[in-house]
Amino acid sequence: MAHYSSADWSRYCRGALDRNRRRRMERHLLRCDRCLNSYLELAGEEEAEAAALLLPDFEANLWRLIRRKQREAARKRKSRLLFNYIAAAVITLVLMAGGAFDAVAAGLPALLKETRHIPRLINETVAAGLPGELFHNENRAD
Ligand SMILES: [Zn+2]
Repeated sequence: MAHYSSADWSRYCRGALDRNRRRRMERHLLRCDRCLNSYLELAGEEEAEAAALLLPDFEANLWRLIRRKQREAARKRKSRLLFNYIAAAVITLVLMAGGAFDAVAAGLPALLKETRHIPRLINETVAAGLPGELFHNENRAD
């Protein structure tokens, strides 16, 4: 990307450029941090003059650009979300076709039987008090 010189930005701030060149420079400002810094340095020196010399629709153009970028970002988010839904649907269909859910359903009663005692163990453990090691900090100095 070709950049504008400090002299260019100085001419810009003094209003010494034609409208087309000013527009090109303003579009460049929206994309280029280096030139934005050059411009802001000059604008800091000649702040009031520079602000007065900005084309009246510069701010409107800036907001239009920001809104367009926001819409683009929202569109990307939506298409990513749609992709995730489609991927989840495809995975579900593949698992259904492969009988994965049937296998899980068939194994479920045995799994429930094996884990039936876990809630009772948790209750007994809590009733007996949680093991002290859980609360002992080995790094503590005392
Ligand atoms: Zn630049």
